[in-house]
Amino acid sequence: MPTVDKALCMQGGFAATGRVSQQGLPLIAKTVPATNKNKKQRPLRVLLMGGIHGDELTSAAIVYRWVEGMTGPIAQSIDWRIMPVVNPDGLLAEKASRMNANGVDLNRNFPTPGWDAEAPRYWKARTRSDPRRFPGHAPLSEPESRWVEEEMRSFKPDVIISVHAPFGVLDFDGPEEPPRKFGRLLLNRVGVYPGSLGNYSGVHQNVPVITIELPNAQKMPQQAEVRRIWVDMLQWIVRNVDPRQQEAAIRSVSTSGTKR
Ligand SMILES: [Zn+2]
Repeated sequence: MPTVDKALCMQGGFAATGRVSQQGLPLIAKTVPATNKNKKQRPLRVLLMGGIHGDELTSAAIVYRWVEGMTGPIAQSIDWRIMPVVNPDGLLAEKASRMNANGVDLNRNFPTPGWDAEAPRYWKARTRSDPRRFPGHAPLSEPESRWVEEEMRSFKPDVIISVHAPFGVLDFDGPEEPPRKFGRLLLNRVGVYPGSLGNYSGVHQNVPVITIELPNAQKMPQQAEVRRIWVDMLQWIVRNVDPRQQEAAIRSVSTSGTKR
């Protein structure tokens, strides 16, 4: 990965989760609990993931670089779950591949409502059966997308950050006021696709998804820009995502469930 060597990977402290990719590579993650806690409310939970598209090398590399610099009171006020390489088979293939080892675009494989009809139709009509955008034969057909969905259910994030490349923009799915600018990246809503993580989580699970599209899939932004995106992102999160609201939503769901 650009600007990330083996030593930095090892230093990140990621561990095998027990889940493996289609080709049997470990799917790795780590939890970093908040150390700078506010007594009045629980820490925000942020799920950060890179490399869901294996040929977007910078999207995984920048996660390692951010983890290296996770100091400061805001970062330490957050409970983190970090998954730097969601698609290791694609990233480590001889020629890095967007898709996983089954040729599936993992970011079209999440169980959005109506997937069975919409995802294949969209793929055929709108992408003209582009193999780089194949959604799979069923939602969550792939071990890597099942793993992401499991992590979402167990960690219960307040916000998800998913890093991509190379469109050089920010995208956002969720009810909050969207971020306008992280570093040089400007908000540009790219659209909603059947089976995408933003559509599944941000639109249908009510957990907002920030999609960061770095400007180049092979070449890293300058160090100052890597840092700027990180700082702007943390500031947006603490100002716009409120853990109490999420808890109120969970309470209202469970109360309405018991009223029946
Ligand atoms: Zn991507």
